[in-house]
Amino acid sequence: MTKKTYSLMLHGGAGALDNISSGKEADEYMASIQRVLEHGRTILAHGGSAVEAVEVCATDLENDPLFNAGCGSVLNEDGHVEMDAAIMEGVKLAAGGVAAIHNIANPIQLARLVMEHSEHVLLIKGGAQRFAKRHGVEEIPDEYFITEYRLKQFEKAAQSGQVILDHESADADNKFGTIGAVAYDQNGNLAAGTSTGGIVNKYFGRVGDSPIIGSGVYADNATCAVSATGYGEDFMRTVLAKTASDLIEFQGLDARQATAKAIQYLTDKVKGRGGIILIDRHGLCAAGYTTKRMVHGWIEHGGESICTFK
Ligand code: ASP
Repeated sequence: MTKKTYSLMLHGGAGALDNISSGKEADEYMASIQRVLEHGRTILAHGGSAVEAVEVCATDLENDPLFNAGCGSVLNEDGHVEMDAAIMEGVKLAAGGVAAIHNIANPIQLARLVMEHSEHVLLIKGGAQRFAKRHGVEEIPDEYFITEYRLKQFEKAAQSGQVILDHESADADNKFGTIGAVAYDQNGNLAAGTSTGGIVNKYFGRVGDSPIIGSGVYADNATCAVSATGYGEDFMRTVLAKTASDLIEFQGLDARQATAKAIQYLTDKVKGRGGIILIDRHGLCAAGYTTKRMVHGWIEHGGESICTFK
């Protein structure tokens, strides 16, 4: 194992760019992922913690309307934004999540506050909003979240009665994705975070896998850090992030083997749609998905940043 090094991985949604019609669209995604990877590098290269890198990178991605998280979140059946997010660190298995929240610019930051300033792991709806207020997190007006693009996307989904993954469908407009970050810092600590607006036209009150520890996010220094994207229900039913971790814990697999096996499991059990990014306890990076593509990028052991949507 290499000492005093760091690794970082990000995703911007499985299935995102499945229907790209031009290289320009892909370029925008790649440029954003690249920029955020380099931002994360400045933290990890200077000895910052994995948790900090995950929070900062996830915040950057939430602030980019390209992605289905924070200001780019999709709309639910009522035409409103309801977001889910969670963060977990691998030293003590501390974790925090928020679900079905609204008018919060950076759900990942609120999730970290839950992890560090409450005895709880998951706060939902009004309870999470109250907690935010108590901790000085201001509510941002609807206009920040509801873009014309999202309104059109929602109207189309509502008309056809579909509940769709933001980036899934034959419709080339449905191209955005949930975000996730996993990091390995110079002290050998792991962390993972996932943040999403969920799926388009979802039921009011629907919570996906992203804020569920073990489903859409997991971190344990003894195994790995994982962030998932795709149909949340598939990941919840297979507890996929923890399944990947268990493959390392109980079968001694490395990052690539565990990722491949977890994705196989997702397919075999529920024909699941989506993917994961994973960094193992040695800082090795791996990605796997059942969709045609997944927007993602990584820095392994302080090396070059690599971005791809394939
Ligand atoms: N997993 C997210 C959810 O089901 C959606 C996504 O990854 O795009 O809420």
